[in-house]
Amino acid sequence: MGRYTGPVCRLCRREGVKLYLKGERCDSPKCALERRPYPPGMRRVRRAKLSDYGVRLREKQKVKRYYGVFERQFRRFFDMARRTKGATGDALLSILERRLDNVVHRLGFAVNRRQARQMVAHGHILVNGKRVTIPSYLVRPNDVITVKKAKMREQVKERLQNRKTEIPAFLQITNTDPPEGIVTRLPERDDVSIQVDVDKIVELLAR
Ligand code: SF4
Repeated sequence: MGRYTGPVCRLCRREGVKLYLKGERCDSPKCALERRPYPPGMRRVRRAKLSDYGVRLREKQKVKRYYGVFERQFRRFFDMARRTKGATGDALLSILERRLDNVVHRLGFAVNRRQARQMVAHGHILVNGKRVTIPSYLVRPNDVITVKKAKMREQVKERLQNRKTEIPAFLQITNTDPPEGIVTRLPERDDVSIQVDVDKIVELLAR
């Protein structure tokens, strides 16, 4: 599965919201969106008024960029959400939150999703004692997330000590040395930290 390798701050500037793709810098005055709160490009332009379609499209792009997924996988998750009982939008966000790279980041094991994705892909993360190298792997309740190598455990321990963000209610740190986290339940709408009108995404994709 591909991944975006270009500059990430321009994604926030395109969407006009902080997507927290960098880590500590996102909360500092150095944040590119705070310094240049207009869309990326050669010229400084005002944000155009969007059509209904444009508003829906931007909501979808915002979520895709926040979780670092491309269109094909996003559609696959949307199809999964449609087959789930309950509101499709909430199910979609729940599925995205269950991605292993997202869980590693939200536990505080990595400073951003990109780093979390690399940790997973490089085999540093164990789920229930087994190495999982697929960042899009979907965790389930009671899954235990640990770090494999001693060197990486030290780095994660340090990140946990310096962590400033809250851990969402569906996750819990059960040990800091060695770092260990558990998925307590399926994520819900309130566990999602990005402000998104998910109904707009459903309206766009359900056609
Ligand atoms: Fe987005 Fe973070 Fe860059 Fe700010 S610093 S524009 S929040 S990625």
